[in-house]
Amino acid sequence: KDWPSDGVVNIENLSLRYDENLDNVINNLSLSIKGGEKVGICGRTGSGKSSLMLGLFRLIDISGGNIKIDKKDISDIPLRNLRSHLSIIPQDPVLFAGTVRFNVDPVELYSDETIWKALDIAQLVPIIKNKAGLLDSPVAEGGENFSAGQRQLFCLARALLRNSKILIMDEATASVDMTTDKIVQRVVNQHFKDKTILTIAHRVSSILNYDTIVVLQNGNIVEAGPPSEL
Ligand code: ATP
Ligand code: MG
Repeated sequence: KDWPSDGVVNIENLSLRYDENLDNVINNLSLSIKGGEKVGICGRTGSGKSSLMLGLFRLIDISGGNIKIDKKDISDIPLRNLRSHLSIIPQDPVLFAGTVRFNVDPVELYSDETIWKALDIAQLVPIIKNKAGLLDSPVAEGGENFSAGQRQLFCLARALLRNSKILIMDEATASVDMTTDKIVQRVVNQHFKDKTILTIAHRVSSILNYDTIVVLQNGNIVEAGPPSEL
């Protein structure tokens, strides 16, 4: 139940592919991440950053090697369990059709007060207070009645509630608004201090205070180290 408690991620000789008929998009990649470490992932478009994140959730096929989280091979962990114990803020999040409450607390674990607190930290209160249904206001299929930035803030609120040891972020590209990006960065710096964080960064500025920067190219690591040494 407590897994993962330390947030240690060990990736060994990992290969990933989208389909068994397709080439690997991550090729024999190894990376060790300590509990609480902040890791920024950089690299050109198509280098495999998002694919690597998908691999952590087993959303694409592990064709070689393994990923261990707190010493457990994620291939041995039931999918529901794996996915509910990691938090993610995707580049362009998709919300579930349902309610605001269902989107931040899908299995109804938290009190209204706790949910409002998370929404407050994520700066969503003014938006939700404006809706007649409050926490039970409708969310359309995919979250289409909210902006991309707001959808990211929903994921942030969900991550705050879930309080999992590992947070994965795929930073918004320049096209998405900077205000949301700043909110996410500030909240993450304040509220996820002891968590392991993996951020796919499109702007160097957002990962300058990270412990480690990893540069991907063609599905493998070409450089890794503290930002001061790269
Ligand atoms: P970006 O900075 O543009 O987001 P990225 O580093 O996240 O790029 P990926 O999306 O991981 O790159 O892509 C890595 C490789 O995987 C690319 O060659 C891409 O064409 C391929 N790829 C991505 N998504 C799919 C998919 N759904 N099916 C098949 N191949 C895919
Ligand atoms: Mg990507």
